[in-house]
Amino acid sequence: MQGAARKKLVMVGNGMAGVRTLEELLALAPDQYDITVFGAEPYGNYNRIMLSPVLANEMTIDDIITHDFDWYRERGIRLLAGRTVVEIDRHRQRVIADDGTVVEYDRLLMATGSTPFILPVPGNDLEGVISYRDIHDVNTMMETAQRFKKAVVIGGGLLGLEAANGLKNQGMDVTVVHISKTLMERQLDAVAGGLLQTYLEDQGIQFAMEAFTAEIKGRDRVETVCFKDGREVEADLVVMAAGIVPNVAVAKQAGLPCERGVLVNDTLQTYDPKIYAVGECAQHRGIAYGLVAPLFDQGKVCANHLAEHGIARYEGTVLSTKLKVTGVKLFSAGDFSGGDGCDELIYKDISQGVYKKLVIKDDRLVGAVLYGDTQDGPWYFELIQSAGSVASLRQDLIFGREFAQEENATENIAEAA
Ligand SMILES: Cc1cc2nc3c(=O)[nH]c(=O)nc-3n(C[C@H](O)[C@H](O)[C@H](O)COP(=O)(O)OP(=O)(O)OC[C@H]3O[C@@H](n4cnc5c(N)ncnc54)[C@H](O)[C@@H]3O)c2cc1C
Repeated sequence: MQGAARKKLVMVGNGMAGVRTLEELLALAPDQYDITVFGAEPYGNYNRIMLSPVLANEMTIDDIITHDFDWYRERGIRLLAGRTVVEIDRHRQRVIADDGTVVEYDRLLMATGSTPFILPVPGNDLEGVISYRDIHDVNTMMETAQRFKKAVVIGGGLLGLEAANGLKNQGMDVTVVHISKTLMERQLDAVAGGLLQTYLEDQGIQFAMEAFTAEIKGRDRVETVCFKDGREVEADLVVMAAGIVPNVAVAKQAGLPCERGVLVNDTLQTYDPKIYAVGECAQHRGIAYGLVAPLFDQGKVCANHLAEHGIARYEGTVLSTKLKVTGVKLFSAGDFSGGDGCDELIYKDISQGVYKKLVIKDDRLVGAVLYGDTQDGPWYFELIQSAGSVASLRQDLIFGREFAQEENATENIAEAA
């Protein structure tokens, strides 16, 4: 901005949501701000979701770096990597980092993500008990696999199963401990979860289902995981993948209203109009998301407002999930639980490992679970998002886009003739 002093934008948290917001902002208003970024991790930005292929020996850390230090330098962004913001002084509009660095802001963007939930059980601080969130955790798992054999992963959700698959590929004997009867129960119904479990068992992963971890035991490092029902499993490494907790400590300290995440409105603004929040740390219309698609939607809207265009609104995101385990074809989107007023269309060929379930409510597709054949996942997802009537496709919907649309076209021709 020639002639006028640029405004100061400070971003706290150098992860996927924050950096996407910066990209969107630079595309809209490259000269509007002097930008300073604080990142607790000592790197540029990386594709966190690709940590799983790294752990599975399918990619390297270098492959997943999306924004190296040069990216920031070339755009005049001051990156303070390896520094954690410990205080926001809203009165003086400045932030303070753990090394004493103080930076003033006109606008502040919170993008602090989440921290893994650590089960509050005795022994959770033993050597060899870790979580799965960042490059450091992946390096620890890979080093541990060089020296030890037995791994236990607590949590049979997306993250836990990807950790288990990676550790198996690292040569460890892996047991997944899961609290419920069904793996990934938030994304899969019992049939799809069962197919997934059978496939992973065939790959050599063991499961302790409906197991409530009561204690982790060991002398110098972890040795055993004990469950409430008396079962035990030996472990040299325990990976906690039992959920995430939004990082809101600094926001709370600054007096910003928080529930699970920092509360934001449809423009991603917190209760302080100078402070925005995006990503897993933010709570929008009651939801703190844990997948990247919504965070990218949020980043676009937030950038629009930081650029002072002021026209975009974020109204929420329908979620879809895939599991990054080679050999597993799995897709889940929307609300697949069914219930009152819903119809379920089901295709089931268990010996071929194929299962599809579509949930319909008021002639609209509201949820889909696909296992074994996920080719039509993106189409079903489009139908869920568009929320239009699928009445004319209903009979053939379960057989996929090609078949359903062909049949529909044939019927229309027949009717017209
Ligand atoms: C192994 C793994 C696999 C995943 N797979 C998928 C997937 O397949 N699909 C999908 O949609 N999602 C997946 N996710 C989730 C996805 O990675 C997250 O939703 C996304 O990274 C969240 O982005 P974020 O910017 O909000 O948080 P993050 O990417 O975590 O970034 C937040 C950053 O802020 C830093 N920070 C926190 N507090 C401070 C502070 N006070 N000062 C400075 N820095 C701070 C943190 O260290 C971190 O670097 C996966 C996650 C993991 C861990």
